[in-house]
Amino acid sequence: MTRPSVGIVGGGLLGLATAYRLVQAGIDVSVYERDGQLGGLAGTADLGGIPVDRYYHVVLPTDERVRSLAAEVGIGEDRFRFRTTRVGFYQQGQLTSMSSARELLTFPGLSPLDRVRLAAFAARCQLKGDSTDLESLSLETWLRKICGNSLWESLWRPLLDSKFDGRYDDLPATYLWARTRRMSATRDKAAREVMGTIDGGYQVLVDALAREIRALGGEVLLDTDVHSVPAAGGRAIGVVVDGTLRPHDFVVTTQLRPGLKGLLAPELELALGADPNRYLGVVCVVARLSKSISPYYALNITDRRIPLTTVVETTHVIDPERAGGTLLYVPKYVTPDNPDLDRPAAEIKREYLDHVRTMFPALRPSDILAAQVARARIAEPIHTVGAPRPTERTLFPAPGLATASSAHIYPELVNGQAVLGVAETLVAGLLERVGSEQREAQAA
Ligand SMILES: Cc1cc2nc3c(=O)[nH]c(=O)nc-3n(C[C@H](O)[C@H](O)[C@H](O)COP(=O)(O)OP(=O)(O)OC[C@H]3O[C@@H](n4cnc5c(N)ncnc54)[C@H](O)[C@@H]3O)c2cc1C
Repeated sequence: MTRPSVGIVGGGLLGLATAYRLVQAGIDVSVYERDGQLGGLAGTADLGGIPVDRYYHVVLPTDERVRSLAAEVGIGEDRFRFRTTRVGFYQQGQLTSMSSARELLTFPGLSPLDRVRLAAFAARCQLKGDSTDLESLSLETWLRKICGNSLWESLWRPLLDSKFDGRYDDLPATYLWARTRRMSATRDKAAREVMGTIDGGYQVLVDALAREIRALGGEVLLDTDVHSVPAAGGRAIGVVVDGTLRPHDFVVTTQLRPGLKGLLAPELELALGADPNRYLGVVCVVARLSKSISPYYALNITDRRIPLTTVVETTHVIDPERAGGTLLYVPKYVTPDNPDLDRPAAEIKREYLDHVRTMFPALRPSDILAAQVARARIAEPIHTVGAPRPTERTLFPAPGLATASSAHIYPELVNGQAVLGVAETLVAGLLERVGSEQREAQAA
């Protein structure tokens, strides 16, 4: 019998981690990536001649899957840098630090009772190991109940407004439970956040995975757009590239669901059923500055006169020498119909950086050495309150087909660590199915 063959659509972290495990298991693997470079959302972009993360990316000390996969492909612990970072708030026109337990308890924008409620909320999330009851509870209802109406109005509502482009009514309580637990787990003894990065970004991991896949006989193709995934008798039969069918025993897609529209044969799409999720895109200005402007890694913006999600100075984690100066990311998460996804890049740059200058008046136009805009219309899935958990059936909806993506991450947050968790589940399921389905298909 010939070796089973799997075609993987997408050379992001998910596609490459999956391909690596499959090729190790003796399966013929082809990865198809439409871009000229691997990495997808976690890849780098050229900013004035120096590669930088297209979007800001950190690794947390607790990201065990990322760290052990990196070690396996030759990226040693010395390539990871972890540092304590500070978190700031921009509220009512003022910058304030909330970077330690002491600062939380003296935080000026909140009443003493609200500060205690906030600390109690974080402790409650840490102690609560099971989130099942939160899946059908709306985030707003939960927060109003646990933290009270005034904390909801002064803190949570504006923060959710900035993160979710004004639409947070359908979020489940699991969102903040998962977020608080992830960030609490990375705090040091003084409750300061510890964050890190792979020297060179996730791109280093992605490129190392591709190198290993090729060394083991797998194929990783760039500039290769998969036009469609055809089916015969309800079974996926391969991928169509440049008008030619490349047959595979199994096809794995890694895009979020909107990216599958028109790609999958109608009978395969039908097998997927209705999509329970909605999605967020992102518009992000990345700028290289001649000087640091923010003492904070990330800024929470509760002053809604500033319509940005956050301002992230990643050179508190990355060495500025590696980045050619201070690196500042100015993102706004947006619903997929937000006009910022289509407006001219020059306008976006000017507008977003003007908002930064309102918050940091010391930033002069001459301090901005280079700036550009990255955008993705579909970047993050949103699990809505009461929606069913992703299941084995949505991962393997039809014979010969796996539709994996970051939408299979729930209730965890979407990040590299969780994506590698999806890859593990996917590979286990594929190894079970590939051989037996191939035998059935050959017998038919
Ligand atoms: C603003 C932002 C900040 C983030 N920050 C962090 C962070 O700090 N830490 C962290 O761990 N994670 C972070 N993440 C999350 C992380 O980037 C993603 O979880 C991860 O990169 C998703 O990988 P993926 O392979 O699932 O998807 P993608 O990266 O989207 O990969 C999918 C790939 O498929 C390709 N493709 C699509 N259609 C086709 C086709 N028809 N043919 C061929 N190829 C195709 C695309 O070009 C793409 O390369 C962040 C994400 C965003 C948007």
